[in-house]
Amino acid sequence: MSAPSSFAEPLWSASELALATDGRLAGAPAEDLVGVSIDSRSVARGEAFFAIKGDRQDGHDFVRDALARGAGLAVVDEAHAAELASAGPLLVTPDVLAALVATGAAARARSQARIVAVTGSVGKTSTKEALRVALGEDGPTHASAASHNNHWGVPLTLSRLPKSAAYGVFEIGMNHPDEIRPLTRMVRPHVAMVMNVEPVHLAAFPNVEAIADAKAEIFEGLVPGGHAVINRDSPHFERLCAAARACGAEVMSFGEHVTSDARLDRVALKDTSSCVAATILGEPLTFKVGAPGRHLVQNALGVLLAAKLLGADLALAGLALARFAPPAGRGRRHELETPTGSLIVIDESYNANPASMRAALALLGHTPVGASGRRIAALGDMLELGASEQELHAAVAEAVTASKIDLVYTAGPLMRALHDALPAQRRGAWAPTAAELEPILLQSVRGGDAVMIKGSNSSRMGPLVSSLCARF
Ligand code: ATP
Ligand code: MG
Repeated sequence: MSAPSSFAEPLWSASELALATDGRLAGAPAEDLVGVSIDSRSVARGEAFFAIKGDRQDGHDFVRDALARGAGLAVVDEAHAAELASAGPLLVTPDVLAALVATGAAARARSQARIVAVTGSVGKTSTKEALRVALGEDGPTHASAASHNNHWGVPLTLSRLPKSAAYGVFEIGMNHPDEIRPLTRMVRPHVAMVMNVEPVHLAAFPNVEAIADAKAEIFEGLVPGGHAVINRDSPHFERLCAAARACGAEVMSFGEHVTSDARLDRVALKDTSSCVAATILGEPLTFKVGAPGRHLVQNALGVLLAAKLLGADLALAGLALARFAPPAGRGRRHELETPTGSLIVIDESYNANPASMRAALALLGHTPVGASGRRIAALGDMLELGASEQELHAAVAEAVTASKIDLVYTAGPLMRALHDALPAQRRGAWAPTAAELEPILLQSVRGGDAVMIKGSNSSRMGPLVSSLCARF
């Protein structure tokens, strides 16, 4: 889990790390450390390897591997120090996760960067990547790798913040209340964004208002004078505003509502991009989003508002968004040439919940197909939806009928509820697992079709994308 970096400078010296973590150096480490890693499989030469204990594995079991791969030192618990003394240079601390948090705090304390933190039920990573592109045009920008948004991901991203970064972009996620609060207090953003509040992770919350309150914790870490950036079109806007104001934040909004500070004026949705006219804090701006879908336009409005509030050049940020490409599994599009016409495969296999499902079905509905081509959705279970999971799956039928989708294949026990709710003419096969759906889908799809594949990551729809791409 090393983050590729365009920053050439050393990140930490061994003595800085020892000071930050209140640790003890042993075994003559290299003075300059070029990065921070918690994964021995991808640790790069000269990085500091933090031996974090996870749910399934203990990083201490991988210290020897990490050092053999060239890690500059390993940060270990006192309890493992003696047994690992011969492995190579060590930084011995009472608790490795606390040491990572302390390193993150030291990185934040020495940084001059303007910092933005993003949360929301859907689209955090997509928005974080759009911010990376938009702010990166203005100055050196550091952003979370992948979806590193939890109790180890956020301090890991902070501890990697280069001294010379002009901007820092942090994704913050949660599965339960009180999770975002300590993370935002570590990050201390200048701008804190709530992209949306949706009924996901409902298993841990009594209702969607409780989810809104948990998201609003992000405002508690804002620096004095910081800005809250909130989706104006969310039904929870007022609730989020009240929470932000209670933290002393100045509230700014984005959306289609006429009072939005970043307001959508007009949009042309194309099959591979969108062209947008907007007004951002009174300034008219036309720009292109380099990937399709109205949901990405909504994210882009928030991104440009945040960029402006952070002091970036708005025109440059707008131009940069033309280069935005969706992260893997979140709407990435493959166009395959076949003897009977081109086949479009939209890979949405990384994640699914009712909100992103609606967005992806709308996108498929707008995707052009060949003369006899069909729009086909292959959908796996949406997980972590709590007691109303059956109803939420069945309700996807409304989004199907509202868009121009010809056929819906389904896989998994929960998707059975959607299968049963679909109108007969759009109902494709249902299979108990994604693997069992695969041969059925491969047999049905032909050149000229557009196929969108989506499901929660653990419903394992990803291999269907690879098989389709390999077959054609
Ligand atoms: P996670 O909680 O797993 O980290 P996330 O919040 O980071 O998820 P993404 O990975 O960016 O979310 O996107 C998940 C899915 O939601 C993708 O299919 C993406 O296309 C879709 N999506 C992105 N933005 C929005 C939005 N504003 N509304 C609805 N769906 C969206
Ligand atoms: Mg994410």
